Amino acid sequence: MGILAWFGMKRSLLMISAVYPGSFDPITNGHLDIIERGSVIFDELIVAVLCNPDKKGAFAIDERVDLINRSIVHLKNVKVLSYGGLLINLLREINCRIILRGLRAVSDFENEFSMALMNDHLAPEIETMFMMTSMKHLYLRSSSIKELAYFGGDLKDLVPDAILYDVEKRLKK
Ligand code: ADP
Repeated sequence: MGILAWFGMKRSLLMISAVYPGSFDPITNGHLDIIERGSVIFDELIVAVLCNPDKKGAFAIDERVDLINRSIVHLKNVKVLSYGGLLINLLREINCRIILRGLRAVSDFENEFSMALMNDHLAPEIETMFMMTSMKHLYLRSSSIKELAYFGGDLKDLVPDAILYDVEKRLKK
């Protein structure tokens, strides 16, 4: 085997991938910022839309996946999927060992901390990594997007440009 082929094989074995899970109902520029920064750090980033049967969102799961796909066309190493089970089972199924999460204000910390500890208890081989929000996205969350749009507020700069029109139209009262 030539050295380049050997290196290519070794390289794919060494590929580091991470899963970025969430409800993404809908994706915001805060999420996109984490996705863009994560795609630079990891060889492959998988955005996982988790289905929670107790939480009926504004957008159906397939719509959320579609909105994310339309927002990440410029990112070649990012994939999107939906999953209806335990997050750690998804990671085990796809042979991935890193969960990527975003952190906004202190209020996120307690919830994120307990989720990370629970996942660590269930699957110690899986690591949760946190990425700090950018200053301009500190207060950006999907629930405020929905509220704002419902009352006809402008979502420019809050959700990705590629989906702005559709999200506004869909959520408007
Ligand atoms: P939310 O509905 O609160 O936006 P999600 O479940 O869709 O939350 O979020 C998925 C992940 O993205 C979580 O780790 C969350 O903390 C993170 N996240 C959400 N909004 C932002 C933001 N503005 N900046 C950084 N991380 C964020």
